[in-house]
Amino acid sequence: MSTPARDFLDAVRWHLHSLRLAGVKRIPRLFPAAGATGAGASDGGPPPPGGVRSWAEAARYLKDHIDTEAGKWAHTQAAAASGGSRSGGARSAGSTKATAVRGSGAGRQAPAVSKGPAPAGPAGPDPDLRPTEPLDAGTAQQLADLAETVSRCTRCAELAASRTQTVFCDGPGNADLMFIGEAPGEDEDRQGVAFVGRAGQLLTKIIVGGMRMRREDVYISNILKCRPPGNRNPLPKEAANCREYLDRQIELVRPKVICLLGGVASRFLLDDPTAVGKMRGKWLEYRGIPVRVTYHPAYLLRSYTQDTRQKVWDDVLKVTDKLKALRDVRGGPRESSSELF
Ligand code: URA
Repeated sequence: MSTPARDFLDAVRWHLHSLRLAGVKRIPRLFPAAGATGAGASDGGPPPPGGVRSWAEAARYLKDHIDTEAGKWAHTQAAAASGGSRSGGARSAGSTKATAVRGSGAGRQAPAVSKGPAPAGPAGPDPDLRPTEPLDAGTAQQLADLAETVSRCTRCAELAASRTQTVFCDGPGNADLMFIGEAPGEDEDRQGVAFVGRAGQLLTKIIVGGMRMRREDVYISNILKCRPPGNRNPLPKEAANCREYLDRQIELVRPKVICLLGGVASRFLLDDPTAVGKMRGKWLEYRGIPVRVTYHPAYLLRSYTQDTRQKVWDDVLKVTDKLKALRDVRGGPRESSSELF
């Protein structure tokens, strides 16, 4: 690794160390605990900090750490900006009050290109995209009961044996928009909340920065409620076993629009093996609900090109346009760029 990069990592480390010495309490740990510090770096030169084996590994570790912290920060900022809070399946009745304000008028301003966290966006969340209905206590209770049933599910023996916990959803039961992904990954399995890892952080950026919605206002679930070992693709049998739970979530939440994230979601929900590239770009339907297919954020992370971002951007704008059309709100001016996430 180049000397400037080493110097930078060292400077970060010493800066944090000096903060610690100055008595600042919550200093993030940048590297794993020391253990192999005596050995030279495997890529030559002086050893990197902590127990990491090479400077390249140190840089990767630092980048992942910053991404995770940035994602948490973006989420907190978005929640603070909108005065909301997260919820699982058991959101209390009436906690999300309807605020249907007509005619947004406010023009959107494209922020600078950045792979960093997207806070609420210069104009903040669009009030026309808040949930239209308050959540009634009966629905909240039924979702909570369903989440409880799912948490005890053993229909897929392998998944039940390997999971840390089931991952039911993230979001309120009165959401107008439901995202459906594939299956929990490692972070979701650990935290019990859908889309909180790197793909989830990008999804948050898309929702907050691109769609100008609050993540707290959308409902996010998956085809599978358990993490497949090693993040392998869900098996058809597993998707079939879990289908009843997802269908019940859709019945209870009654979203106005569903956005399917990636090929696994579109294949299993719509029973159509067509590639995402061909499924996207048009309105489909599931049980009378308009459905839009777009690329999975994990794919977008792997293929972070202008072209893919533009396509996702087009897809999610169609979703927000549809949400507004369904509540008869005139769409505001739109940007021509895909630089919002
Ligand atoms: N990918 C998914 O499809 N779902 C999650 O919850 C997390 C990552």
